[in-house]
Amino acid sequence: MMDFIYQAQSPRVVFGRGALQHLEREIDALGARRALVLSTPPQATAAHALAERLGERAAGVFSKAVMHVPIESAQAAREVARQCQADCAIALGGGSTIGLGKALALTSGLPIVAIPTTYAGSEMTPIYGITEAGLKKTGRDPRVLPRTVLYDPLLSSTLPVGLSVCSGLNAIAHAAEGLYASDSNPILDLMAEDGVRALVQALPVLHQQPQQAEARAQALYGAWLCGSVLGQVSMALHHKLCHTLGGSFNLPHAETHSVVLPHALAFNLGHAPVAAQRLARAMGIGSPANVPGALWDLARDLGAPTSLRELGLSAEDVDTASALAMTQQYPNPRPLTHRAVRHLLQQAHEGIRPS
Ligand code: NAD
Repeated sequence: MMDFIYQAQSPRVVFGRGALQHLEREIDALGARRALVLSTPPQATAAHALAERLGERAAGVFSKAVMHVPIESAQAAREVARQCQADCAIALGGGSTIGLGKALALTSGLPIVAIPTTYAGSEMTPIYGITEAGLKKTGRDPRVLPRTVLYDPLLSSTLPVGLSVCSGLNAIAHAAEGLYASDSNPILDLMAEDGVRALVQALPVLHQQPQQAEARAQALYGAWLCGSVLGQVSMALHHKLCHTLGGSFNLPHAETHSVVLPHALAFNLGHAPVAAQRLARAMGIGSPANVPGALWDLARDLGAPTSLRELGLSAEDVDTASALAMTQQYPNPRPLTHRAVRHLLQQAHEGIRPS
């Protein structure tokens, strides 16, 4: 048995089909009376409908959340919250909207109720990101962790199939890197393994039947587990590469995770045999050595992108991205060299199946 430190750190979680009906109760439980509802522009209609339903409990709607939380959008949300005298915020959406909620919480102290509609998992982490002058700065702060999370699988049934698949693979990436994190513990390993199992079972069903309620619930359950892992341990090479590709080359978040994960695991799992065994067990495959290839096959079979080239990364960018990914040191099961990282990114760029 390994030595470990475990400290529970979680928002209050309300999970279930129709969980959104409990929102008023959860706002009251926070002692709040005037909620500012946050969303992206495409989810503005849902945000306004929610505010209308809340009646006097709603202070307003701010529907300008965008990817990577530009500081201007965080400042604008804070100003709207001040003007409408909001005493809490409701983040209805994926990682972009929840990220805006976190930025608001960081500077205003407002409690956040998160209602996730993707599988990205941000609602379970104290990690925030704010982009200023083209540079995304990330940090950890307990103040940004939502106070309450309402997981309602009905809300994710409108998520397009392609994004559902990539978002689910994004969640699997959190669990996979959690399984070989230097600061993990047995509880998080259990969560990671079950999170991967739930998602690997649910995604093929969603691909065929996007409205299948049980598969939506199973995927969201997996997203909760994987997000919990992300929030509590250090991530390694895979997340570093995706952060670089998203932040510096503007590649789409979930799709980038889908492409890079099999390659990052092919690089790392030989140096993390226990993690490889747990992933193989969760995925229902016999040999741990087949995990990267099986994940690549899963992504391809479910119509997810398999190359960075199709996401818009140029051949020249592979060099720059490799250099950028090597600029900071971070724990990784396998020692990193520029040559090896470049090779990994080249394989991912071309969409070659890892063997
Ligand atoms: P997203 O929030 O950007 O959503 C993608 C698009 O899907 C948006 O247009 C959104 O409006 C739409 N959408 C979301 N849910 C929908 C639904 N149910 N029906 C229809 N449309 C829907 O995407 P994401 O992948 O959830 O989040 C990505 C962002 O979150 C990135 O900026 C990433 O860095 C961040 N993130 C942060 C953490 C963290 O812990 N801080 C964790 C994961 C992701």
